[in-house]
This record gives sequence, C-alpha cells and structure tokens, in this order.
Amino acid sequence: VDNRMTGTATTVPCQYRTGKTLGSGTYAIVKEAVHIKTGKYYACKVINKKLMQGREYMVRNEIAVLKKVSSGHPNIVTLRDYFETAHNLYLVFDLCTGGELFDRICAKGSYFEQDAAQLVRTVMRAVKYIHDCGIVHRDLKPENLLFRTPAEEADIMIADFGLSRVMEEEKLQLLTEICGTPGYMAPEIFKKTGHSKPVDIWAMGVITYFLLCGYTPFDRDTQQEEMEAIIAGDYKFEPAEYWANVSETAKEFVRYCLTIDPNERPTAEQALQHRWLADLGEHFVPDP
Ligand code: ADP
Ligand code: MG
Repeated sequence: VDNRMTGTATTVPCQYRTGKTLGSGTYAIVKEAVHIKTGKYYACKVINKKLMQGREYMVRNEIAVLKKVSSGHPNIVTLRDYFETAHNLYLVFDLCTGGELFDRICAKGSYFEQDAAQLVRTVMRAVKYIHDCGIVHRDLKPENLLFRTPAEEADIMIADFGLSRVMEEEKLQLLTEICGTPGYMAPEIFKKTGHSKPVDIWAMGVITYFLLCGYTPFDRDTQQEEMEAIIAGDYKFEPAEYWANVSETAKEFVRYCLTIDPNERPTAEQALQHRWLADLGEHFVPDP
C-alpha cells in the first residue's frame, strides 16, 4: 500500500511521471517529467495554489494566454499542457537541457562582447514579441533564460513568465523579505508608480551589464542599499579592468536601457534599433 501511495504521489495526474528536480524559484518547483504514453521528456512546474488564493480564475486566464503566446515564438519556452489538483497547479513545458544563462555567465566569468550582443538581441526580439502580445514578463533575469540544449551555440529561451501579474504582490514580498536579490527590478517598482513594459527593458539593461562583466550593477551589502542604488540609478562601469575590452557602444546601450524614467526608457523596438544590436550581422561567425 505504501508503495502504491508513493507511486500515486509522484504521478502528475495520470499521464506524466515526474523525476528529478530541475530547479526551484520564488514560488514553484520544476521537475523533469516523462509523458508515459510517448516517453517524451518535459519540464513540469508545480505551483502551490495557496499562493494564488482567491485569484484562481485569473491564473486560468493567464495560462490560456501563456499557452498561445509561448507557442508563437522560437525563443520562448512553450507551454504544452496544464493540470490542477486540489493543492497544486501543474504546467508542462518543453524541456530545456542546456541550463540557465546565469550558470553559463558564472562559468565563463563574462561573455565576449559580440556573443553578448547576439544573446541580447535574440532575447530583446522575444521581449518585443511578448510586448506586442500585450504581456509584460516582469521577471527577466539570467535564471529565467534557459538554453534549449547543452551546445555552446544553443538557442536561448525565455522562461517563467505570464503568471507574474497574478502572483505579483506575494512575489514582491517574498523577493524582498525572504529570498533574494531585487537586483533586476526597475526603480518604478520600488516607487510603486507602475510596472509595465519598461520594467522588462530595465531588466535587459541589468542582464547586459552582467553578461559583459560577470557581476550585476546594483549589488550592495544590504537590500536597502541595493534598492536605493536602483532608485538613484547609481552604478558604474567599474572596476576598470573588467570593462577594458568593452566598447563605448555597449556601455551606451546599457545606459539607454537603464534610463530611470520609464517614460524615457526605450521600447524593445527602440532598443533593437540601437547600433550595438542593429549593426550586428545576422550570421555571426565567432573569432577562431
Ligand atoms: P519560478 O517562477 O519559481 O522562478 P521558473 O519557471 O523560473 O520558476 O523555474 C525555476 C527553475 O527551474 C528555472 O530557473 C530553471 O532552472 C528550471 N526550469 C524552468 N523551466 C524549465 C524548462 N522548461 N526546462 C528546464 N529547466 C527549467
Ligand atoms: Mg524563475
């Protein structure tokens, strides 16, 4: 009986069997899952329903949107399936086996400028697509950018979006109180004056900075200091030795995205027109 109980507990409503944990974030655990009938592997995100009490209808709405939007762009992780039980939501996504951008940056130290620009352009194009669909990601960061395969030149994929609107308050609270870094959050989020599409462009500025030097611009000893630095837009391209091989154009692009006033900040389309991205060839061949 015990064995059967265990088996039941690890079977996502009938059709999937879950395996190892792939990662966990602010409000969910993501596990590898195999579709029993086809033997195909997926990533299954398990979300505790307690986190969305009273707003389940919004979540269902959002999931429908997510499903549609995610299947429409090659650099967005596709939502394939959706289940719920009394306690949990299960979202089944295409599996990315190449890990997080975060880990690749940490392993490399930093990216060559050309490679960074290629990645940023690919992600920015996907952000433009999301924005054109009327959706704001709200949680862009290297932990939410995944590689489709372990290959060096693998496609980069945007994950973890869509539910942020319904989770937002809890998440913001969790983010600032318990877990983690507010490092990618735009100044207007702390000022509570809005968190619309421009927050994603701000996050892209922080990600670009991180790609180029290997550390984040607003990292401070305490979260309070970090928030103050973000609100003041207080960051530098220092220490100089980390920025020696980075062009003025790249720094200009970072500054452009990190415009404090969200109304002055570029849109995704404008960011794509910045010469750091616009002047890249479509078929980049890395230096030998
Ligand atoms: P949270 O909202 O809790 O941050 P995420 O959707 O970001 O949840 O997932 C948490 C982690 O799980 C990710 O940072 C990543 O490491 C892993 N993960 C998420 N989706 C996938 C996927 N489709 N394929 C492989 N790993 C994934
Ligand atoms: Mg995440």
